[in-house]
Amino acid sequence: MTNYQLPMSLLLAVCLLCGCQKKETTFQYNVDKFYDLEILRYDVPEFDQLSVQQKALIYCLSEAALWGRDILYDQNGRYNLRIRRTCEALYLYQTKTKSQTSNKVEDPNFEAFEKYLKRVWFSNGIHHHYSEDKFLPEFSEEWFVNACAEAGVTYDEEIIPVMFDPAIMAKRTTTQDGVDLVLCSAGNYYGEGVRQIEAEMWYYTHKDNSAEPLWIGLNSQLVKNENGEIEERVYKVGGLYGEALEHVVYWLHEALQYAENDQQREVLNKLIAFNETGDLQLFNEYCIAWVRDLDSRVDFVNGFTETYSDPLGITGTWESMVNFKDMRATCRAQLISANAQWFEDHSTTDPKYKKEEVKGVSAKVITAAMLAGDCYPATPIGINLPNANWIRKEYGSKSVTIDNLMHAYNEAAKGNGFNEEFMIDDEIRDLYSKYGAQCGDLHTDLHECVGHGSGKLMPGVSKDALKEHASTIEEARADLFGLYYLADPKLVELGLLPNMEAYKAGYYQQMMNGAMTQLVRIEPGKDVEEAHMRNRQLIANWVLEHANGEVEIIERDGKHYLRINDYEGVRRLFGELLAEIQRITSEGDYAAAKEMVETYAVKVNPELHKEVRERFAKLNIAPYKGFVNPVYTAKRNAEGKITDVKIDFTEGYIDQHLRYSRDYSPLPDVN
Ligand code: ZN
Repeated sequence: MTNYQLPMSLLLAVCLLCGCQKKETTFQYNVDKFYDLEILRYDVPEFDQLSVQQKALIYCLSEAALWGRDILYDQNGRYNLRIRRTCEALYLYQTKTKSQTSNKVEDPNFEAFEKYLKRVWFSNGIHHHYSEDKFLPEFSEEWFVNACAEAGVTYDEEIIPVMFDPAIMAKRTTTQDGVDLVLCSAGNYYGEGVRQIEAEMWYYTHKDNSAEPLWIGLNSQLVKNENGEIEERVYKVGGLYGEALEHVVYWLHEALQYAENDQQREVLNKLIAFNETGDLQLFNEYCIAWVRDLDSRVDFVNGFTETYSDPLGITGTWESMVNFKDMRATCRAQLISANAQWFEDHSTTDPKYKKEEVKGVSAKVITAAMLAGDCYPATPIGINLPNANWIRKEYGSKSVTIDNLMHAYNEAAKGNGFNEEFMIDDEIRDLYSKYGAQCGDLHTDLHECVGHGSGKLMPGVSKDALKEHASTIEEARADLFGLYYLADPKLVELGLLPNMEAYKAGYYQQMMNGAMTQLVRIEPGKDVEEAHMRNRQLIANWVLEHANGEVEIIERDGKHYLRINDYEGVRRLFGELLAEIQRITSEGDYAAAKEMVETYAVKVNPELHKEVRERFAKLNIAPYKGFVNPVYTAKRNAEGKITDVKIDFTEGYIDQHLRYSRDYSPLPDVN
């Protein structure tokens, strides 16, 4: 258990050194802004210090990442590729003719059309990436049809109602109570006409109940055959999405020759074999090999991974992220991992739900080098994989925070007026400007490195027991674990926080965000749907409801503010809720999970919602951010071997997407 631990004295020494003075250059972080979205650019510090072999590996893995782009569009909805391609063809024609006419007439329909296409790219489809509601064009159907005719762009007539009729495919993934989750979701994880009960029956009868189960359904679409029976279409070379996976496999093969060590070669070989066969046993072997690869500096995720977008939470959404270890910041997360058992033992949860031995929580801080699929343009700030519980238990998991993306967010947000508007006074603003970023990093580390890995299920409790509430409860559990320990003297003792005041910045931010400010992301009249947002609201509202003066929302000059009167008391409440959420998880108490989520996580106070949105609107800040990727160019010698890789940061948002669609789009319109 201790073989991955560094001696404490060494870790402390290393961590004192990583005060991480990043040099500020004139790097251009802000790229574009439209609707509620802002596009940023991320820097890739230390890329130039990598070896040629490591750069070549990143290059090949980046190509493997980009070739999967179409898959996500199709998973997000069966019309998405047709819509994207029609719009792009029209866009290319329109911009070409516009550049040819010297006196440009401003055309509001064209401007609305350009914004629509930018939004399609951002969402990898026609549903908002976060709210999952379909967004409607602000240009008219008539304009679109005529413009396509004029441009000679032909298209499938079926896309017109899908684009313009608000009632058709209104929601990407619905979690609404009492409806058929499969039929009412636009996602393409199930073929036309498949009902929830049929899909659930299929999963039930095919479920692998062995000790090392195959994740049946992870890499397939369920469809109805002509006899009305449910059938599986497997994602693999020669199967569903095979045209894209062939290219992915080609570049994974290329990557092999630049692998850093045998363990990494095994990871690549297993993933290639899995993509070629769709054999889930190989997927398990790949996951285990991947968890064991701790020494490589370059690492990657590539494949069907997170299951949030499948309304039944089984099938993986395609994503890729290529990255390499940020040496300086990794020590911070390692220090937390090294103390995983201490955190487990001292948490507020019932001893019978604790893990006797917390295993292999490897943690590191990474620099993202390429984002693709469900990691692009909007991206997670941390990753904790694999998702199979038995692998996590037997072999551990890898957990990362992505420092260069967080850094870009922080840099891009400087001076936007948000804290001045929403934080209650100068005291908390000062505290936040001193310790906010540090608390944010630490909370993410605690969430990813020890939060998700803590606790255990009681014998016989299925990992699916909490059904549609599983994601919200699991995220709440990891967040609460992090929040509880953020205020622990242990962190000061470990040198991770400078004093016992600093955590207050994190507490204030989390409570303010969960109770108030994240509401800026919810459209008027809507519920909170997304699992992470639900979890944050659940925590904040539960704590406010159970508080006895420790924390409150007060009104001043017609505006509401969060006020914390007793930080230790808030910590106690976090601890109480953590114990209950762990109990719900360990016992698989579905009724309690449902009650908890429905009471605190879903509904929004309409007056507070309206006020927060109005105050936010005045600041003119986009609530969601996404990124453009850098462009890598490989130089090769006569034998075709890569001898150098150049990185360039100048590509814009529109150019990037048009290029990706031109150069990396192998799937047919209908899959
Ligand atoms: Zn999480």
